[in-house]
Amino acid sequence: MINALGILFLVASGILGAVIGSFLNVVIYRLPRGIGFVKGHSFCPHCEHQLKALDMVPVFSYLFLGRTCRYCHAPISARYALVEVLGAASALLCYCALLPPVAFMLPEGAASLTSGATASELGLLAGWLPPAVPALIAASISAALLFIVFCVLLLVSFIDADTMEIPDSLSIWLAALGLIGMGLGPFAGYDWPAHVIGAFCVSLPMLLLALFIPGAFGLGDVKLMAAAGLLLGWQLVIVAVFIGILIGGIYGIFLLATRRKGRKEHFAFGPALCMGIAVSSLLGNTLMNWYLGFF
Ligand SMILES: [Zn+2]
Repeated sequence: MINALGILFLVASGILGAVIGSFLNVVIYRLPRGIGFVKGHSFCPHCEHQLKALDMVPVFSYLFLGRTCRYCHAPISARYALVEVLGAASALLCYCALLPPVAFMLPEGAASLTSGATASELGLLAGWLPPAVPALIAASISAALLFIVFCVLLLVSFIDADTMEIPDSLSIWLAALGLIGMGLGPFAGYDWPAHVIGAFCVSLPMLLLALFIPGAFGLGDVKLMAAAGLLLGWQLVIVAVFIGILIGGIYGIFLLATRRKGRKEHFAFGPALCMGIAVSSLLGNTLMNWYLGFF
Protein backbone atom coordinates (compact mmCIF):
# COMPACT_ATOMS: atom_id res chain seq x y z
CA MET A 1 0.00 0.00 0.00
CA ILE A 2 1.45 3.34 -1.05
CA ASN A 3 0.29 6.49 0.68
CA ALA A 4 -0.07 9.95 -0.88
CA LEU A 5 2.75 11.48 1.17
CA GLY A 6 4.98 8.62 0.10
CA ILE A 7 4.28 9.32 -3.58
CA LEU A 8 4.88 13.04 -3.08
CA PHE A 9 8.27 12.44 -1.44
CA LEU A 10 9.10 9.85 -4.09
CA VAL A 11 8.42 12.31 -6.95
CA ALA A 12 10.24 15.11 -5.13
CA SER A 13 13.35 12.99 -4.56
CA GLY A 14 13.33 11.89 -8.22
CA ILE A 15 13.20 15.51 -9.43
CA LEU A 16 15.87 16.58 -6.94
CA GLY A 17 18.05 13.70 -8.15
CA ALA A 18 17.66 14.78 -11.79
CA VAL A 19 18.52 18.41 -10.95
CA ILE A 20 21.62 17.31 -9.05
CA GLY A 21 22.44 14.97 -11.95
CA SER A 22 22.38 18.05 -14.18
CA PHE A 23 24.94 19.69 -11.88
CA LEU A 24 27.04 16.47 -11.97
CA ASN A 25 27.20 16.89 -15.78
CA VAL A 26 28.84 20.28 -15.23
CA VAL A 27 31.35 18.78 -12.78
CA ILE A 28 32.12 15.84 -15.12
CA TYR A 29 32.93 18.34 -17.87
CA ARG A 30 34.77 20.94 -15.81
CA LEU A 31 36.69 19.05 -13.09
CA PRO A 32 39.19 17.32 -15.45
CA ARG A 33 39.62 20.60 -17.35
CA GLY A 34 40.35 22.51 -14.15
CA ILE A 35 37.43 24.92 -14.63
CA GLY A 36 35.64 26.02 -11.45
CA PHE A 37 32.10 24.66 -11.33
CA VAL A 38 30.48 26.74 -8.63
CA LYS A 39 30.59 30.05 -10.49
CA GLY A 40 30.07 30.73 -14.15
CA HIS A 41 27.15 30.04 -16.45
CA SER A 42 26.55 26.80 -18.27
CA PHE A 43 27.36 26.89 -21.94
CA CYS A 44 27.07 24.69 -24.99
CA PRO A 45 30.41 22.81 -25.32
CA HIS A 46 30.17 23.23 -29.10
CA CYS A 47 29.29 26.89 -29.77
CA GLU A 48 29.91 28.12 -26.19
CA HIS A 49 26.59 29.96 -26.25
CA GLN A 50 25.40 30.64 -22.73
CA LEU A 51 22.44 28.41 -21.79
CA LYS A 52 19.16 29.76 -20.46
CA ALA A 53 17.06 28.11 -17.75
CA LEU A 54 14.78 26.56 -20.39
CA ASP A 55 17.78 24.81 -21.96
CA MET A 56 18.74 23.18 -18.70
CA VAL A 57 15.59 21.43 -17.47
CA PRO A 58 16.90 17.92 -16.76
CA VAL A 59 15.98 15.28 -19.36
CA PHE A 60 13.05 17.35 -20.73
CA SER A 61 15.26 19.92 -22.45
CA TYR A 62 17.11 17.08 -24.12
CA LEU A 63 13.91 15.42 -25.33
CA PHE A 64 11.99 18.55 -26.34
CA LEU A 65 14.73 20.65 -27.91
CA GLY A 66 15.15 18.02 -30.60
CA ARG A 67 18.36 16.66 -29.03
CA THR A 68 20.33 19.50 -30.57
CA CYS A 69 21.70 22.79 -29.24
CA ARG A 70 19.05 25.51 -29.66
CA TYR A 71 21.69 27.99 -30.86
CA CYS A 72 24.12 26.11 -33.09
CA HIS A 73 22.07 22.92 -33.68
CA ALA A 74 25.02 20.71 -32.80
CA PRO A 75 23.76 17.34 -31.55
CA ILE A 76 23.69 17.09 -27.75
CA SER A 77 25.21 13.89 -26.41
CA ALA A 78 22.62 11.55 -24.92
CA ARG A 79 25.06 11.21 -22.04
CA TYR A 80 23.88 14.45 -20.44
CA ALA A 81 20.37 13.04 -20.16
CA LEU A 82 21.79 9.68 -19.04
CA VAL A 83 23.64 11.30 -16.10
CA GLU A 84 20.43 13.13 -15.13
CA VAL A 85 18.44 9.90 -15.26
CA LEU A 86 21.13 8.14 -13.20
CA GLY A 87 20.99 11.01 -10.68
CA ALA A 88 17.24 10.59 -10.38
CA ALA A 89 17.58 6.81 -10.14
CA SER A 90 20.24 7.14 -7.41
CA ALA A 91 18.04 9.47 -5.38
CA LEU A 92 15.08 7.10 -5.71
CA LEU A 93 17.21 4.08 -4.80
CA CYS A 94 18.69 5.74 -1.70
CA TYR A 95 15.27 6.98 -0.68
CA CYS A 96 13.53 3.63 -1.13
CA ALA A 97 16.35 1.65 0.46
CA LEU A 98 16.58 3.74 3.60
CA LEU A 99 13.07 5.14 3.96
CA PRO A 100 10.85 2.24 2.91
CA PRO A 101 8.19 3.06 5.51
CA VAL A 102 7.59 6.45 3.92
CA ALA A 103 8.19 5.33 0.36
CA PHE A 104 6.01 2.29 0.14
CA MET A 105 4.55 1.62 3.56
CA LEU A 106 6.06 -1.84 3.39
CA PRO A 107 4.67 -3.84 6.31
CA GLU A 108 8.09 -4.82 7.68
CA GLY A 109 9.41 -1.27 7.21
CA ALA A 110 6.53 0.27 9.07
CA ALA A 111 6.82 -2.38 11.78
CA SER A 112 10.50 -1.66 12.26
CA LEU A 113 9.77 2.03 12.83
CA THR A 114 6.90 1.58 15.26
CA SER A 115 8.80 -1.01 17.24
CA GLY A 116 11.53 1.58 17.75
CA ALA A 117 14.21 -0.01 15.60
CA THR A 118 17.55 1.73 15.89
CA ALA A 119 18.76 3.69 12.93
CA SER A 120 21.52 1.19 12.25
CA GLU A 121 18.97 -1.52 11.54
CA LEU A 122 17.47 0.53 8.74
CA GLY A 123 20.54 0.62 6.58
CA LEU A 124 24.26 0.62 6.25
CA LEU A 125 25.06 4.28 6.76
CA ALA A 126 22.41 4.72 9.39
CA GLY A 127 24.95 3.26 11.81
CA TRP A 128 26.55 6.68 11.80
CA LEU A 129 23.96 8.24 14.02
CA PRO A 130 23.24 7.99 17.74
CA PRO A 131 20.38 5.55 18.37
CA ALA A 132 18.49 8.25 20.25
CA VAL A 133 17.88 10.15 17.01
CA PRO A 134 14.37 9.27 15.87
CA ALA A 135 14.60 6.52 13.29
CA LEU A 136 12.89 8.51 10.54
CA ILE A 137 15.25 11.48 10.82
CA ALA A 138 18.22 9.14 11.07
CA ALA A 139 17.07 7.26 7.97
CA SER A 140 16.56 10.57 6.10
CA ILE A 141 20.07 11.77 6.90
CA SER A 142 21.45 8.34 5.97
CA ALA A 143 19.59 8.41 2.65
CA ALA A 144 21.07 11.86 1.93
CA LEU A 145 24.60 10.69 2.83
CA LEU A 146 24.24 7.57 0.70
CA PHE A 147 23.03 9.77 -2.17
CA ILE A 148 26.19 11.90 -1.85
CA VAL A 149 28.20 8.67 -2.08
CA PHE A 150 26.28 7.71 -5.25
CA CYS A 151 26.91 11.15 -6.76
CA VAL A 152 30.65 10.83 -6.15
CA LEU A 153 30.55 7.35 -7.74
CA LEU A 154 28.78 8.78 -10.81
CA LEU A 155 31.45 11.49 -11.10
CA VAL A 156 34.27 8.94 -10.78
CA SER A 157 32.66 6.65 -13.38
CA PHE A 158 32.15 9.24 -16.08
CA ILE A 159 35.39 11.14 -15.51
CA ASP A 160 37.37 7.87 -15.51
CA ALA A 161 35.59 6.75 -18.70
CA ASP A 162 36.49 10.08 -20.35
CA THR A 163 40.04 10.61 -19.14
CA MET A 164 41.22 7.19 -17.80
CA GLU A 165 41.97 9.01 -14.56
CA ILE A 166 40.19 9.29 -11.24
CA PRO A 167 40.69 12.72 -9.64
CA ASP A 168 42.12 12.36 -6.12
CA SER A 169 39.62 14.91 -4.86
CA LEU A 170 36.77 12.46 -5.51
CA SER A 171 38.45 9.61 -3.63
CA ILE A 172 39.08 12.08 -0.79
CA TRP A 173 35.34 12.84 -0.74
CA LEU A 174 34.56 9.14 -0.32
CA ALA A 175 37.21 8.76 2.38
CA ALA A 176 35.86 11.85 4.17
CA LEU A 177 32.37 10.34 4.23
CA GLY A 178 33.94 7.20 5.72
CA LEU A 179 35.76 9.29 8.36
CA ILE A 180 32.55 11.09 9.30
CA GLY A 181 31.13 7.62 9.93
CA MET A 182 34.02 6.71 12.20
CA GLY A 183 33.82 10.02 14.04
CA LEU A 184 30.18 9.51 14.89
CA GLY A 185 30.74 5.82 15.38
CA PRO A 186 31.15 5.44 19.14
CA PHE A 187 27.56 6.58 19.67
CA ALA A 188 26.07 3.86 17.52
CA GLY A 189 28.57 1.08 18.17
CA TYR A 190 30.07 1.73 14.75
CA ASP A 191 32.63 -0.95 14.04
CA TRP A 192 35.55 1.40 13.28
CA PRO A 193 38.34 -1.26 13.17
CA ALA A 194 36.41 -2.94 10.34
CA HIS A 195 36.59 0.34 8.43
CA VAL A 196 40.31 0.88 9.09
CA ILE A 197 41.00 -2.68 7.90
CA GLY A 198 38.67 -1.98 4.97
CA ALA A 199 40.93 0.84 3.81
CA PHE A 200 43.79 -1.63 3.28
CA CYS A 201 42.39 -5.11 2.67
CA VAL A 202 41.51 -4.49 -0.99
CA SER A 203 43.71 -1.50 -1.87
CA LEU A 204 46.98 -3.11 -0.72
CA PRO A 205 46.67 -6.27 -2.89
CA MET A 206 45.57 -4.03 -5.75
CA LEU A 207 48.64 -1.83 -5.23
CA LEU A 208 50.90 -4.89 -5.40
CA LEU A 209 49.13 -6.04 -8.58
CA ALA A 210 49.52 -2.55 -10.06
CA LEU A 211 53.25 -2.53 -9.25
CA PHE A 212 54.06 -6.03 -10.48
CA ILE A 213 51.66 -6.34 -13.41
CA PRO A 214 51.82 -3.02 -15.25
CA GLY A 215 48.41 -2.03 -16.56
CA ALA A 216 46.46 -4.33 -14.22
CA PHE A 217 45.05 -1.39 -12.32
CA GLY A 218 45.77 2.31 -12.21
CA LEU A 219 46.82 4.02 -9.01
CA GLY A 220 43.53 5.89 -9.17
CA ASP A 221 41.68 2.58 -8.84
CA VAL A 222 43.84 1.70 -5.81
CA LYS A 223 43.07 5.01 -4.08
CA LEU A 224 39.38 4.68 -4.93
CA MET A 225 39.19 1.26 -3.27
CA ALA A 226 41.13 2.48 -0.21
CA ALA A 227 38.53 5.23 0.22
CA ALA A 228 35.67 2.82 -0.44
CA GLY A 229 37.06 0.44 2.19
CA LEU A 230 37.17 3.21 4.77
CA LEU A 231 33.56 3.97 3.92
CA LEU A 232 32.17 0.44 3.70
CA GLY A 233 34.30 -1.63 6.09
CA TRP A 234 36.28 -4.70 5.09
CA GLN A 235 33.36 -7.05 4.59
CA LEU A 236 31.45 -4.84 2.18
CA VAL A 237 34.51 -3.59 0.29
CA ILE A 238 35.43 -7.20 -0.50
CA VAL A 239 31.90 -7.73 -1.83
CA ALA A 240 32.34 -4.47 -3.81
CA VAL A 241 35.61 -5.48 -5.45
CA PHE A 242 34.25 -8.93 -6.37
CA ILE A 243 31.23 -7.37 -8.10
CA GLY A 244 33.47 -4.72 -9.70
CA ILE A 245 35.92 -7.28 -11.12
CA LEU A 246 32.99 -9.41 -12.33
CA ILE A 247 31.39 -6.45 -14.15
CA GLY A 248 34.76 -5.21 -15.45
CA GLY A 249 35.65 -8.72 -16.64
CA ILE A 250 32.38 -9.17 -18.51
CA TYR A 251 32.83 -5.72 -20.08
CA GLY A 252 36.43 -6.55 -21.04
CA ILE A 253 35.33 -9.80 -22.72
CA PHE A 254 32.61 -7.84 -24.54
CA LEU A 255 35.21 -5.31 -25.78
CA LEU A 256 37.49 -8.10 -27.01
CA ALA A 257 34.67 -10.11 -28.60
CA THR A 258 33.30 -7.11 -30.48
CA ARG A 259 36.86 -6.00 -31.37
CA ARG A 260 36.31 -2.58 -29.87
CA LYS A 261 39.59 -2.93 -28.02
CA GLY A 262 42.68 -5.04 -28.68
CA ARG A 263 44.19 -7.49 -26.19
CA LYS A 264 46.88 -5.04 -25.05
CA GLU A 265 44.65 -1.99 -24.80
CA HIS A 266 43.41 -0.70 -21.48
CA PHE A 267 39.96 0.41 -20.55
CA ALA A 268 38.78 2.43 -17.57
CA PHE A 269 38.12 0.10 -14.65
CA GLY A 270 36.70 2.82 -12.40
CA PRO A 271 33.07 2.56 -13.63
CA ALA A 272 33.01 -1.19 -12.88
CA LEU A 273 34.50 -0.65 -9.42
CA CYS A 274 31.97 2.12 -8.76
CA MET A 275 29.10 -0.18 -9.72
CA GLY A 276 30.51 -2.73 -7.28
CA ILE A 277 30.71 -0.12 -4.51
CA ALA A 278 27.16 1.06 -5.21
CA VAL A 279 25.67 -2.44 -5.25
CA SER A 280 27.61 -3.41 -2.14
CA SER A 281 26.55 -0.32 -0.19
CA LEU A 282 22.89 -1.09 -0.91
CA LEU A 283 22.82 -4.89 -1.00
CA GLY A 284 26.21 -6.01 0.36
CA ASN A 285 24.91 -7.44 3.63
CA THR A 286 22.10 -9.28 1.86
CA LEU A 287 24.50 -10.69 -0.76
CA MET A 288 27.00 -11.74 1.91
CA ASN A 289 24.36 -13.58 3.95
CA TRP A 290 23.03 -15.27 0.81
CA TYR A 291 26.54 -16.40 -0.18
CA LEU A 292 27.50 -17.55 3.31
CA GLY A 293 24.21 -19.47 3.43
CA PHE A 294 25.78 -22.04 1.10
CA PHE A 295 28.25 -23.21 3.73
ZN1 LIG B 1 25.61 25.16 -29.31
